[in-house]
Order: sequence, then C-alpha cells, then structure tokens
Amino acid sequence: MKVLSAVAWPYANGPRHLGHVAGFAVPSDVFSRYMRMAGHDVLMVSGSDEHGTPILVLADKEGVTPRELVDRNHAIIAGELADLGCSYDLYTRTTTPNHYAVAQELFRQVWANGYMVEQTTKGAVSPSTGRTLPDRYIEGTCPICGYEEARGDQCDSCGNQLEPEDLKSPRSKIDGETPRFIETQHFFLDLPALADSLRTWLEGREASGTWRPNVIKFSLNILDDIKPRAMTRDIDWGIPVPLEGWDDASQVGPKRLYVWFDAVVGYLSASIEWARRLGEPERWREWWVEGTVPEAQESYYFMGKDNITFHSQIWPAELLGYAGKGAKGGEPGVYGELNLPTEVVSSEYLTMEGKAFSSSRGYVIYIRDVLEKYGPDAIRYYICAAGPEAQDANFTWAEFVQRNNSELVAGWGNLVSRTAAMIAKNFGEIPQPGPLEPVDEAVRAAVLGAFGTVGDLLARQRVKAALGEAMRTVGEVNKYVTDTEPFKLKGEDERERLATVLHTLVQCVADLNVILAPFVPAAANRVHTAIGGEGELMPMPRLATVPDLDEEGREYPIVTGEYTATPAWASRPVTVGAPITKPAPLFTKFDTETVVADELDQVPGA
Ligand SMILES: [Zn+2]
Repeated sequence: MKVLSAVAWPYANGPRHLGHVAGFAVPSDVFSRYMRMAGHDVLMVSGSDEHGTPILVLADKEGVTPRELVDRNHAIIAGELADLGCSYDLYTRTTTPNHYAVAQELFRQVWANGYMVEQTTKGAVSPSTGRTLPDRYIEGTCPICGYEEARGDQCDSCGNQLEPEDLKSPRSKIDGETPRFIETQHFFLDLPALADSLRTWLEGREASGTWRPNVIKFSLNILDDIKPRAMTRDIDWGIPVPLEGWDDASQVGPKRLYVWFDAVVGYLSASIEWARRLGEPERWREWWVEGTVPEAQESYYFMGKDNITFHSQIWPAELLGYAGKGAKGGEPGVYGELNLPTEVVSSEYLTMEGKAFSSSRGYVIYIRDVLEKYGPDAIRYYICAAGPEAQDANFTWAEFVQRNNSELVAGWGNLVSRTAAMIAKNFGEIPQPGPLEPVDEAVRAAVLGAFGTVGDLLARQRVKAALGEAMRTVGEVNKYVTDTEPFKLKGEDERERLATVLHTLVQCVADLNVILAPFVPAAANRVHTAIGGEGELMPMPRLATVPDLDEEGREYPIVTGEYTATPAWASRPVTVGAPITKPAPLFTKFDTETVVADELDQVPGA
C-alpha cells in the first residue's frame, strides 16, 4: 500500500516548544516508522509554513525582512525535528518557487471551475503605513457586551463573532492607531457549492469507523452553517494571486493568497518537490492520483485540534474544487483528480504544569533545550506514553522524570543491560540453546503476540495504547528473568539450561527492540548494538542543505533520509555466536529532585 503521511506544517515564527511537537510531530513519526516496518511504501512530508501576517508583524518588530526571519526560523525548526528523529522523506518550506507554482495551479483551476467567487468586503488599513490590518490585530470595545479588549474577529468575554468595523473605539494592536476601513475585493472559496461533495466524503469516512469520534463529529457539524471563506488577503507577504488584474499595480494595495490556502497545499507541493529532487518528477502521483499504481493509496493527516477545519473542510474543498467535483461541475487541472484524506488524525492540547503553553509568559519548554539536556528518547517516550492523543494532557517535570526512570530505564533499559551483561559474563557470545521448557515457550509466545497487538494499535494511530502494550510485554520478560533465575544457574550441569534461558532472553529483547523502535528509534539503535546486532537497526533522518530547484543561488536546509533499510515488523532470529560484551549504560536515569527543582525554577509562578 502507498501511505502518504502528511504532517502539519509548523508556523515559522520561532523555535518549537513541547506543545507543538507532542500533538503531531512525534505521533506521526511513530506511525510512519511502523507503516514502513509493516511493508508499506510511506511518503512522509511536511515543512515550515512561512507566510501570513504574524510573520510580517514579527519581522517588523525585529527590524528584519520577513524572508530573513523565516530563513532563520526554518533552519531552527528543521534542525529540531531532525534531532527529534522525525523521519521525513522531505521537510521543506512554503517560500520556494516550487510551492508557489503548485499553490497557484490549484488556485487557478479552482477559480476556473467556478469555486472562487469575487466579493467586496470591508478591510482595515493602518493610516500611517497603508498596510492592511487583519481582524485579529484590531482591538476595541465589544458592541454587544462592552468588553474593552474584544478582538476584531471575536469577543472573548461574551463569545460572539464580530466584524472589526463593529468594534467601538477600534485600535491597532501593533501601534495603537485607529484603523481606517476601506472597501476591498477578495476571492472567496465557494464552500456552499462544495458542501454536498464534502458531506458525501465525510459520511463515507464516518462509515469507516476509523476517525477519532470527536474529529468526525466536529467535521460534520461545521458543514451545517458553511459559508464562503476569503482565500485572499490584503498583504504583501505571500503568494501572488495568479490572475490578471490582481497584481500589485492593479489593486488598491497588494493582495496575496490567504496563508491557509497555501499552507495545506504544502502536502502536495512537498510531495512534488520530493519527486523532483529524486529525479523522477512524476513519482508523487503514486500517492496522490488513483490508478497510477495497482496498490491501494491512503493518506493520513496529523495535526492539533485547532487545525481540524483546515484539514477536514478547507483542504478537501480545495481538492474537490480543483477536480471540478462540486455543484458547479468543472474539470481537473494538470495534476488530475487528487485523493482526499483517508484520515484526519487530530490530537488534543498539552498543558504544562497545569497551564497553557505561552512563549510570551514563559510557560514554555523549548524542544531544543529538552533535546540537549535529556536526549530524544526520554521526550519521545513521554509524548507517546502521556501525550494529548485523544484527550487533553498535562506535562509535569515530575511525571517526565518518573516515566523515564521507572519505565524506560528501570523497565526496559535494565532488562537489556542485564541480558547483555549475563551473556557477556557467561558466554561472551549468544549461546546455542538447548530444548525449550514451557516457561521459555510461554515468554516467546507473549513477545511474538505483541507484534500483532502493538502493530494493530499503531496502524490505527493508537500510539499510547500501543506503547502500553509493548511495555506490558517488557514486564512479562522481566518476570521471566525472575521466574527462571539465570543468575543462579552456576553449575556445570546447569550450563545448557543457562544457555537456553539466555538465548530465549536475548531473542525476546531483540524482538521487543523491534517493537519499541518506532517509539524510540535512537535508543533502538543502541540496544541493537548492545545485543550483538550489526549496523543500524532504524534509519535516522538527516539535515541537508540543498539548492533550490528553481531559484538560482538560493539554498536551504531540508530534513530527509533513506529509509529503505527499515527492518520488517517481525521477529528476526538472533545469531548464535554473535559476540556480546558488557554494555555501556544505554539509558540515563535523571535525578528527580534536581531536574524537577531546576526546571520548575524557570517556570514563572510554579
Ligand atoms: Zn462581548
């Protein structure tokens, strides 16, 4: 099967914090790694989302150009995701000519098919700079409840949706100026004309029973009051509207594609960029266009719950409009009829010590800091075991340390170390086993069974339950050590029995290492070496600086990798005679009191 793993595009406004990666980056990597192990042909793509007003405002504030700002932040984010071990086939960015061309092709065909309708609307501009002010950058007094800090799009006090021109005493959040309201033309995606097709698709997905219930319910609900939505903005940072009469000179001010129109197109443009970089420019179709290959094609989109609308409504509507599959008919553009998402996998929110993450208020844990201090395994393990998969979750340093120390180190790491140490001491290599006893057969059956149970859960993106099942099996193998007491088998007449137990044990450890590899791939490579394995078990991503495919002289970092050597999701027999030495420590135990005290010191009010 061809599996497209489409991972949400981080917004390039700064380094990533734990909340950003817990929801989608790590879970999508676990899923993608498992699907490769299960024999599927996975294409995993993402990139930095670099357009939109917040980038513009931030660049102004820092006195740099938007391009300089996103160049810096893209490099930072790509480095963090690579170090976290996220195995993208391509992690790219939205400021490439390749992405511009793909986004414009989609816009043009959606427009040609009649699903982009022009409407006049009121827009706010800053009198001093002439720049347009997006709704969220206007504050004022709510006309309904009188709350003085209502935003242009919504009042947080009474919860009503607002239009910025309704606010009393409106002011710009950027500089406090009173905005001027002007009439402006924009293109609106005609969502009502696509609603029936969206509903048919969503009802089909609901019938599959595979979506998380809250996601499918929310997606169907928002169809009930579907309205046209503006897909262009008055802004000079973004992708130009690819239609005559919409260039900067023809209009009151510059107009660009709405950042969300272009960001979701990134899944497609990154797939195309990947194929172009491979030198096989049409390869992307194997994941996107039905009938290109004999295998089934599936696509999984990973994101936080605040982005469900864009993935279960806006993006499918763009795809349906592009294919001419709405009430107004039409025909597909040059890319053909593109596949709609198979699954929209949305996570919930992560809080930190009971509060929402907020970079500005200091409630934040930067991924870079965590990677440097604790390495990728502990944080990936925590996210998989206790992340916001199906309900909101709360990160605490105490739980982070406790899970690392008692589960990853004492549960798994200790089993590996004991196994390798006993083999090193008694045989120096993996011994030839004698006949198995029922206790040996039972533990082998438990471990082999875990391939089925853990695999089924991972295929359904139940990462938390899958890890729980894997660690429960680790517990059974630890119990096998307690039951068979190999450390007491010291006599010459017990030598064959000792060999059998240790062989059984190292085979269980090798199998569990394969099962745990999608969750903690870096650790899996260390364990693999410790138990006599050769080479690397799990291929890791790398950061590479590549030339832009279309813009001469420009280069940028991407995350990519070669994952064809990914091991199969199956037991691989260990090699009798493979040398094993006493292993160096494989995992690090953290000092509970120091870590918790040091980290909490940096959290305001904790
Ligand atoms: Zn109000």
